[in-house]
Amino acid sequence: MTPDTDIVVIGGGQSGLAAGYHLRRLGLDFVILDAQPTPGGAWQHAWDSLHLFSPAAYSSLPGRLMPAQPGQTYPDAAHVVTYLTDYEQRYELPIRRPVRVQGVHEHGQLLRVATDEGPWLARAVISATGTWSRPFLPAVPGRDRFTGAQLHTAEYRSPKDFAGQRVVVVGGGNSGAQIAADLAYDTDLTWVTQREPMFLSDDIDGRALFDAATARRRALDEGRTDTGGVASLGDIVAVPPVREARDAGLLKASPMFSRFTETGVEWADGQEADVDAVIWCTGFRPVLSHLSPLGLRGSRGHIPTAGTRADADPRLHLLGYGDWTGPASATLIGVGRPAREAARDIAALLQRP
Ligand SMILES: Cc1cc2nc3c(=O)[nH]c(=O)nc-3n(C[C@H](O)[C@H](O)[C@H](O)COP(=O)(O)OP(=O)(O)OC[C@H]3O[C@@H](n4cnc5c(N)ncnc54)[C@H](O)[C@@H]3O)c2cc1C
Repeated sequence: MTPDTDIVVIGGGQSGLAAGYHLRRLGLDFVILDAQPTPGGAWQHAWDSLHLFSPAAYSSLPGRLMPAQPGQTYPDAAHVVTYLTDYEQRYELPIRRPVRVQGVHEHGQLLRVATDEGPWLARAVISATGTWSRPFLPAVPGRDRFTGAQLHTAEYRSPKDFAGQRVVVVGGGNSGAQIAADLAYDTDLTWVTQREPMFLSDDIDGRALFDAATARRRALDEGRTDTGGVASLGDIVAVPPVREARDAGLLKASPMFSRFTETGVEWADGQEADVDAVIWCTGFRPVLSHLSPLGLRGSRGHIPTAGTRADADPRLHLLGYGDWTGPASATLIGVGRPAREAARDIAALLQRP
């Protein structure tokens, strides 16, 4: 049976592009299938004020430095979209859009990638579908009774949409802190977190986080004790808008509420608040449903991997989902190394008889 291409990369965000860069350098035959009509992956859908937590030079994919954004130390999401658009054109990456992969199936020695544009037969697959299209919302009693608005980080755009409203922001990570800071001036804001928010010191940004992730990777590679990587530093990067709101005393967190009422939320001590909108900044989960036909899911919904390679099927690599597919692999600067390892591993696999 003849494959249509040697390798199908699923997803044309930063991870798919980094994979494409290394596959091209190795002279391999591949195609990138991306569900979005336009370049930029998840960065196209970021809220208006989102800025990177690292300067441009520390937010680059392999081969090409991200240029600085005039007047901004920390580039905005639109700048990242421009960079990714330029990147895929510069390296002439073979991307097909919009093509949505519906499922990856066994097909004898090959893998059959079923899409809304017909099937592709391939000898190997790199899945790089990110997390953005699978927002996570925790189960909280009464959530369906609440008559106000509820939205996730993925749907949030701007404080203009909530001016003068009573808004609860849920989540003590970077998204929660940034969106709370965004809303702090024009809304009646309540920021709730499961534990006291931890702000990194003001001189720490994404560069230090990446250094911590690199130190962790080295420690693990050399069989030393896990340094804990990014998590060991604390949580929230004090990017300028977060710092300003915090210093103005506007970022005081309350404990998480315990249930919804019809018109608001209620805490365990019986205190209630009426609210107009709840914004869930509670993270994302990896988008893996297209791989279900292969039956490879392990614990916690992840597919067990060694580096990026699926333990149970060496034809499948998973790229960019988080630390379980390589330290810092879900960042612009961090995805380059696992992408290179995946490309090399597949090249070696394809050479085998
Ligand atoms: C709020 C927030 C802030 C962040 N800030 C930073 C930062 O400052 N610096 C940094 O380095 N990182 C940051 N990140 C992390 C990371 O860089 C992004 O999450 C990044 O978008 C991940 O890239 P990706 O290519 O893996 O996934 P995505 O960008 O989500 O791209 C995946 C692509 O796959 C496509 N796709 C999905 N399913 C299918 C399918 N079935 N068939 C075909 N195509 C499909 C999607 O449409 C999308 O185009 C941030 C993340 C978040 C959520």
